[in-house]
Amino acid sequence: MRVLLVEDDDGVGDALSEALAARGHVPTRVSRGADALGKHHDADLVLLDLGLPDTDGLEVLRMLRKVADVPVLVLTARGDERSVVRGLRLGADDYVVKPVRLAELLARMDNITMRAASRARPVRVVRVSDVEIDLAARRVTVGGEEITLTTKEFDLLAVLATRIGTAVSRQQLMDEVWGNAYVGVSRSLDVHMTQLRGKLHRPGLLATIRGFGYRLET
Ligand code: CA
Repeated sequence: MRVLLVEDDDGVGDALSEALAARGHVPTRVSRGADALGKHHDADLVLLDLGLPDTDGLEVLRMLRKVADVPVLVLTARGDERSVVRGLRLGADDYVVKPVRLAELLARMDNITMRAASRARPVRVVRVSDVEIDLAARRVTVGGEEITLTTKEFDLLAVLATRIGTAVSRQQLMDEVWGNAYVGVSRSLDVHMTQLRGKLHRPGLLATIRGFGYRLET
């Protein structure tokens, strides 16, 4: 993969570049934060040092996250908890403290890029018997006929559809659809589920898991 290495220390930079190239990666090294912001477009992954001569690496990360979702692995001597937490909160995909163990770094890089690749290909349409749920277009057809759902009904179905075959708790459904789990919402959930079932006309498709929640059957 194409790796943008943001590292001002020549010794570390050269060693890493060499090691990455030896594993088939294509590293490009820059030593300033400003250059990182100009070059991330061509990278599949950014390895970001924090102690840079022009800008703090965390600031580079913050700026980068405003414009790009390229995977970023922070690679730094700064191992205090506050910096680690800040890095992760600012959107770093991983955080590794120097001195780095090469095999571990490579494994973490692979993890990050694999996750990024699966994020880039989200499931758009879920099909179960003759029911088709287009998550991106927010359309549902039953037997080829489109049915009209309210926003909440669709959201409920979408949460279940993205975890098809898995029991989803009431708590989870309320959190994801309503953003909270108050008693009033709990009643609302049942009402919406009843309406949803009525519109789908496919008994058994939305199974009730007693005392737990619901499941979209496969
Ligand atoms: Ca440095």
